[in-house]
Amino acid sequence: MRLSEKAAFFCVYSKYLFNYFLGENIGPNVFNLKFNMEKKVCLECEETIRGRSDKKFCSDACRTSYHNRTNIDKPEVIKFIDYQLKRNRKILKKFYSQFSENKMEIPVKQFTHMGFAFDFYTHKEILQSNEFVFCYEYGYNKIDENKVMLIKQSPFALGVELFA
Ligand SMILES: [Zn+2]
Repeated sequence: MRLSEKAAFFCVYSKYLFNYFLGENIGPNVFNLKFNMEKKVCLECEETIRGRSDKKFCSDACRTSYHNRTNIDKPEVIKFIDYQLKRNRKILKKFYSQFSENKMEIPVKQFTHMGFAFDFYTHKEILQSNEFVFCYEYGYNKIDENKVMLIKQSPFALGVELFA
């Protein structure tokens, strides 16, 4: 890998690294402890929330009304694209968890059957001269017209965790 590529990786992944240390590694022990001591309030009605420290709403009713209220200003096209991206991510995640242990290449057919939209993605990266297309942290590389190889962006290292 060239130096400029390494620098680019660092910029992208230092963000993930930072989130990892804040949210996951230290989170369950030290970081959440701090939050537990602070009062958390419902994003909708501002009542104090009891229970788990990661809860954002006091009730399902508040969650629904918050999402309805904040979604109402979103243009239809944004709702549609958000929906496609999240659906793509869900499909990639499902395949990733199913196939990662067997290190399998997955037929494109299986993706299209599940409603995967290849035109929708969040970003692209060139890794070892292969182009990977991502929907959030899950990505794929088209090996040929019929098969794809999956990938997941990892916060643990510069670059990504490769398999298959
Ligand atoms: Zn509430």
